[in-house]
Amino acid sequence: MSFIAIDLDGTLINNNHEISKENVKAIKHAMKKGYEVVIATGRAYFDVQRILKEAGLSLYIISANGSNIHSLSGTKILSVTIPREKAREMILWFDKHHYYYEVFTDNGIYTPAKGREILREEMEQLKNVTSAEEYALMELELEKQFSQSGFVYMEHYEEVFQADENIYNILIYTFLNEKRNRGWDKYKAERDLTLVTSSKYNFEIEHKNASKGNALLYLAKVLNKDLQNSMAIGDSGNDVSMFEVVTNSFAMKNADEKVKSKARYVTASNDENGVAKAIEKHLESVEE
Ligand code: CA
Repeated sequence: MSFIAIDLDGTLINNNHEISKENVKAIKHAMKKGYEVVIATGRAYFDVQRILKEAGLSLYIISANGSNIHSLSGTKILSVTIPREKAREMILWFDKHHYYYEVFTDNGIYTPAKGREILREEMEQLKNVTSAEEYALMELELEKQFSQSGFVYMEHYEEVFQADENIYNILIYTFLNEKRNRGWDKYKAERDLTLVTSSKYNFEIEHKNASKGNALLYLAKVLNKDLQNSMAIGDSGNDVSMFEVVTNSFAMKNADEKVKSKARYVTASNDENGVAKAIEKHLESVEE
């Protein structure tokens, strides 16, 4: 049997920030049939662990967009870091240019203490030029962003280097399109880095070898299995690397059009148990 790789935000988690009973049931059903179910997310490991525990699930976890893999018992089996000097250069630049950012490490998500104020100022700037609907979406996204666990608030960006942490992933978040494009353009051409996006307002930077798809390939190798008859499901740009290495790829109904075009199938939305529906379809298609 093979793998079922599932993204979290916008995919397994519904808009109430929960994993539905239907989705848990479908995952357990697949596990009973011998599938290895893997969570593949941009979130930090400790954050994912908390979410799975609440849902009563114990699974392999690919975190920080493929920078880490942890086993069921919490053993780290893959660790791909951003070189320290490169990380320092980027953090310095984003800090200097007044960005909200998060630095993913083993022990916490380091973020500037003034970060939330920066995002509030951006929202204030957009208040009169944004529709009420869009503004409500921004509020919702912000709430989701701040609901992660393990934040470490820094008065100065040097604190993350003083803590001597491995750096896996730098997440940039801004409501201002032009500012986001400027940050992306600054680092998009770097040969040693990968840039991906996992929501409308962010992008994330990691080592060029780190991707959800690469992590899945690595896990298959470690477990001495292959990816034949495997499936992956997601809603954003950071999921496309998984779509490229599995047999059946599923985009959520709520995914961007570009992501949908890269998937073999489109399933229901994250509020309609799209994961459970995709798993059932996959099991049927493989057993035929
Ligand atoms: Ca997602």
